[in-house]
Amino acid sequence: MAKIGINIATGSLQQAEMIVGIDLGTTNSLVAIIHPESKQPVALKEFDNSSLVPSVVHFNEFGNAEVGEQAKLFLETDPANTIFSAKRLMGKSFNDLKENANFFTYKVIDDNADSLVKVQIGDRFYSPIELSSFILKELKNRAEHILKTPVSKAVITVPAYFNDAQRQATRDAGKLAGLDVLRIVNEPTAASLAYGMGLQKDEEKTIAVYDLGGGTFDVSILKIAGGIFEVLSTNGDTYLGGDDFDHAIMEFFLGQIGVPFHEINNDKSILQSLRLIAESAKKALSSADKFSAEWSGYNITITQQQFNDIIQPLVHRTIDCCAKALTDAKLTITDINAVIMVGGSTRVPLVKDSVSTFFGQSVNDSVNPDEVVALGAAVQADILAGNNKDFLLLDITPLSLGIETMGGLMDVLIPRNAKIPNKAGRQYTTQKDGQGSMRISVFQGERDLVQHNRKLAEFNFTGIPGMPAGMPKVEVTFLINADGILSVSAKELRSGVEQSIEVKPQYGLTDAEVENMLLDSITHAKADMAERALVEARTEGEQILDVTEKFIAKNTTLLTKAELIATGAAMQNLQMAITLNDKNLIQTKIEELNEISRPFAERAMDAAVSGALKGKKV
Ligand code: AMP
Repeated sequence: MAKIGINIATGSLQQAEMIVGIDLGTTNSLVAIIHPESKQPVALKEFDNSSLVPSVVHFNEFGNAEVGEQAKLFLETDPANTIFSAKRLMGKSFNDLKENANFFTYKVIDDNADSLVKVQIGDRFYSPIELSSFILKELKNRAEHILKTPVSKAVITVPAYFNDAQRQATRDAGKLAGLDVLRIVNEPTAASLAYGMGLQKDEEKTIAVYDLGGGTFDVSILKIAGGIFEVLSTNGDTYLGGDDFDHAIMEFFLGQIGVPFHEINNDKSILQSLRLIAESAKKALSSADKFSAEWSGYNITITQQQFNDIIQPLVHRTIDCCAKALTDAKLTITDINAVIMVGGSTRVPLVKDSVSTFFGQSVNDSVNPDEVVALGAAVQADILAGNNKDFLLLDITPLSLGIETMGGLMDVLIPRNAKIPNKAGRQYTTQKDGQGSMRISVFQGERDLVQHNRKLAEFNFTGIPGMPAGMPKVEVTFLINADGILSVSAKELRSGVEQSIEVKPQYGLTDAEVENMLLDSITHAKADMAERALVEARTEGEQILDVTEKFIAKNTTLLTKAELIATGAAMQNLQMAITLNDKNLIQTKIEELNEISRPFAERAMDAAVSGALKGKKV
């Protein structure tokens, strides 16, 4: 039976709680839901009929934060206290940003260049997570206001190229805003969902998602098969977008009236008014052939052809990125079954035409490009809410995940390209008698030796009860949740002692790094195999030496003097082979030692068995 709640604040009937979809954008953000009646995704709109909330946070003199259109008004007049593009800071260190440090008009702290960045406002420091949480909180409040019901569960989108740290930061921002983030979804995946792609079980498609926003451009090639969205490649330019079109028009207008740019560069209000008129010209030219206006007493005018000419080089750069993305995905244009347009700037006719010419097909642009990502997030939210039970959207792991075992070898628990969510476990044991702890180091990568892979986390599993070597059974479990966040737990099965950690890598990997790691594993495959064989032989040799030594100490009386001398010599030879790092020699010497010790090992076994029998009444 369905439950009906009553909102005690308003007295109104409360529907079952809705999961919202949120597009947390660099320039604008918005919330969408599946309409309870039409069952179609819709963007939530305030009374001003706008669904977009500018991703801008302004701090007033008392340090109070204001978000959205109100905050945007301060971009030019109070730049030091007005934060825009906080998304560009997510999961980044100052070193990651320093090439573009001039881009930010507010203070990005640079004193500890390798740790995560903070922003200084007056005497307070804010992390990008906190800044994003202000935006998310505003979106949550808006949604609650419009829906008249509490909103606490959300799906949030991120660019496909976001690494683990950036995804985790986004999730943390949601938590800080009071949202339970059920899933982090790739923006191009969400855009495809909004077009209904990937919703058929037996559907197989390769699609290109072209996303040109205000300040960033990215293109992703996705493969959809059996409800799984795989990102084959991404490319783009994180500092290219509609703002550059505005800038080109500003320069065009100034050229037209004969005023050099540097003359107005210091007059913030003139600059702002020119920027606004350039943006309206751009928007008008998306449907009109010509734009004319009066600005500061001058008549300014621009035709669509003139606009096309000045932005042609910028558009060309995005097409180059598309070509690169295709090459990286090892595909050609004929492999692409659909092209999806995302971002306000894809309304520009030249952009649309160039993309469609490049891919040799008409593009999908029927869904509002500003809203398409949020709408897709709402579709995903609906699936998670169980309203669309046939689907479970899956992502896959880009690289193998495993732990370090003896000799520095990588032991893979979850292989690359495994479906997410995923769970895998394996049992390990101790090397020494009475060993009370075990170091568990988690690595990501394809190489045989952990030293060539990337360490994600490490913890010391303590509290293993004293037992002889090899007795404890430590089960290590990897669990990757639907967002691709890994938790690692270890449990000693005999005693039940348990410990776990959540892996939150400070810095994740970019697609290019993942690719390099894969290439490395292929180039070094032969050498790695040889190295692994050597490490395994060495480990086996050391274990045999250890066991033999213990055996002799315990059973000296069972061995003849000749046997003792022969065993000692064979042990020395094996030790020497290990020191020489010679795999074949180690294996030969292991064999020789085994040959010598086999007879007395059997004798010892017989003695033990007959001893045991003697104690029993047969
Ligand atoms: P987004 O980051 O996706 O919200 O995209 C915002 C960008 O789209 C800004 O640069 C806007 O100026 C641009 N934009 C919005 N509407 C239009 C339009 N009708 N024609 C051209 N550009 C537009």
